[in-house]
Amino acid sequence: MLREAALRVTRPRMAVLSAVHDQAHADTDSLIRTVRADLGEVSHQAVYDVLRALTAAGLVRRIQPSASVARYEARVGDNHHHLVCRSCGAISDVDCAVGATPCLTAADEQGYAIDEAEVIYWGRCPECLAAEDAG
Ligand SMILES: [Zn+2]
Ligand SMILES: [Zn+2]
Repeated sequence: MLREAALRVTRPRMAVLSAVHDQAHADTDSLIRTVRADLGEVSHQAVYDVLRALTAAGLVRRIQPSASVARYEARVGDNHHHLVCRSCGAISDVDCAVGATPCLTAADEQGYAIDEAEVIYWGRCPECLAAEDAG
């Protein structure tokens, strides 16, 4: 994947990419923990730099729901959307509503060539709803 994106293959890049593949919607701290378990001591800055390069190359997608830290995922290019729990911050994938970008039509495109619509559905996850019912 790195070679296809014309990125030099380095151990930190491989480790970060595989960590993002293994944990959908992980934040930077948990990715750093996984990469360190794999490679030993790696600086925060190195992991940030790799995440930026992978995101810019389109290998990784960065999402940042409001009031959340940035999260990363390896599911790219399919314009899927996210469900976010207001109570616990859980994030789930939702397929794109129509399967192609942008899956929503702006009320007024104002002359823009729109190629993406990013949707976050906010609510409470099943676990939090069950906890409320029980409590
Ligand atoms: Zn929840
Ligand atoms: Zn996702």
